[in-house]
Amino acid sequence: MEILDGRKLALKLKDGLKTEVAGLKAKYGAVPKIVNIMIGENPDSSAYMNSQRKAAEYIGIDYELMALPLDVSQEHLCKLILGLNDDDSVTGVMITKPVPKHINFSGAANLIDAYKDIEGINASNIGDLLLGNQTLIPCTAASVMEHLRSTGVALKGKEVVIIGDSQIVGKPLALLLLRELATVTVCHIGTSQAGKLVEHIERADILIVAVGKAGLVKGEWIKSGAIVIDVGINEVNGKIVGDVDFEGAVTRVAFITPVPGGVGPVTSVMLMRNSIGAFLKSR
Ligand code: NAP
Repeated sequence: MEILDGRKLALKLKDGLKTEVAGLKAKYGAVPKIVNIMIGENPDSSAYMNSQRKAAEYIGIDYELMALPLDVSQEHLCKLILGLNDDDSVTGVMITKPVPKHINFSGAANLIDAYKDIEGINASNIGDLLLGNQTLIPCTAASVMEHLRSTGVALKGKEVVIIGDSQIVGKPLALLLLRELATVTVCHIGTSQAGKLVEHIERADILIVAVGKAGLVKGEWIKSGAIVIDVGINEVNGKIVGDVDFEGAVTRVAFITPVPGGVGPVTSVMLMRNSIGAFLKSR
């Protein structure tokens, strides 16, 4: 059994990207520049942003946080995004969630130029993902793929069960795994309500859980020798835990990601990788 150390993997990937950015600087005399738009203050998003800023600094990418007041209008936000699209010095744009209720997040995110959409979440990039074209991939899904690659296990023909079908994790992951010729099942609230979650979990060679419910998956349901990637982040009694009962699972699996220290650290690095991809598209 191996615990997949996300912090170690993140460092290895960051070192590779650092070398890549040094090469870009030598070739183009410029480096990628991210503008992250944050609306209001939020302690959860601040933690994610700190990790982004640190990763950017380490790799050599410019990172600007654009803090907007909580009462900013949709119109102002949209104008700002269009301005960033036109600014050649900015190669990557993102909007940090959560946003206040009066803001239409997807309306604003879809305005970001597809070449600058470093979170890979606008309709154009998701469409390219579906078509199998080279594109900017949603960062959490990319992080899961890096963890799977790090195991060295071939994905072709494996029974992969994904729990959670969100736009940023479950759905893009299903598409990425199909590209690898895995057999993919996506479970969601309907699967749970039909009482069929356990039967899918039991046959998974690779189980990916991205729901946000502590203890959703019991260790005893997991197939012996499976790979388990736990994306969930939940706070229970002041402790951060995933969606999988780690203690129960760890004795059965071949590989498992811990929470914290698994998928999360690699996600920020995937944002940096997308930023380099976006920079190259702008050349
Ligand atoms: P989300 O948008 O809320 O999606 C959760 C998904 O799980 C939805 O498809 C939801 O279906 C489904 N679901 C809810 N209850 C379920 C149940 N009982 N059985 C099966 N499926 C169920 O969340 P997300 O943004 O994908 O994030 C999921 C988790 O990953 C959260 O804990 C989040 O904090 C964490 N996360 C971690 C990272 C990281 O880098 N480590 C990054 C992003 C997210 P319905 O929509 O139909 O309810």
